[in-house]
Amino acid sequence: MNIILRGGPGAGKGTQAAKIVEEFKLAHISTGDMLREAVSNETELGNKAKEFMEAGELVPDELIISLVEERLSRDDCQNGFMLDGFPRTVEQAESLNNVLEKLNTKIDYVVLIDVDNDEIVRRICSRRICTSCGYIGNDSDSTCPSCDSEMAQRADDNEQTVRNRLEVYEKQTSP
Ligand code: AMP
Repeated sequence: MNIILRGGPGAGKGTQAAKIVEEFKLAHISTGDMLREAVSNETELGNKAKEFMEAGELVPDELIISLVEERLSRDDCQNGFMLDGFPRTVEQAESLNNVLEKLNTKIDYVVLIDVDNDEIVRRICSRRICTSCGYIGNDSDSTCPSCDSEMAQRADDNEQTVRNRLEVYEKQTSP
C-alpha cells in the first residue's frame, strides 16, 4: 500500500505518519526529515537547502525530485511507502507520476489532514522535537517522554516563518 499524507505545516503529518507506518509496515519518506539530516550533516544538498528552509520557503524542485526518486527506488519501498511532505508543487506531483510509472507502481490513498491556520500557528510555536529519537512533543515536555533526551525547537518553528510557510502552502502546494 502506497500513501501520500498531505496537510499544511504543523497539521500533524509527522505524528500521524509515525503511527501509520508502524501499523502498516511502510517505508516512511519525509522530505523535511531528509533535508534536516542533510543540513545537520552539512552535505552539499544541506548547504543549498538551509536558507530556504529557515525562511519557510520551498527548496527548489530539482533538488527534491532527485532525492525522492533515489529514495523510492530503494528495496524497502517495495512493500509500500508513505510520502510525508512530498509532493509540494505541481512540478513535483508530475515528476512523481513519472517515477511511479518507471517503478511500475501507483498511489493507493491520499490522506489530507485539514487544520485551521490559527491552530497551526499555536501548535507550531509550542512544538518541540527530541534531539535523539525525533519524538514530536510540545513545550510542556522538559525532556523526551520516549527516551529522556533533550527536546529542541526547529529553526523554522517560529511565528513569522510559520505564516510564510502557510502562504507558501496556499500558493504552491494547494494547486
Ligand atoms: P516539513 O518538515 O515537511 O515541514 O518541511 C520543512 C521544510 O523543508 C519546508 O518548509 C521546506 O523548506 C523544506 N521541504 C520539505 N519538503 C519539501 C518539498 N517536497 N519541496 C520543497 N521543500 C521541501
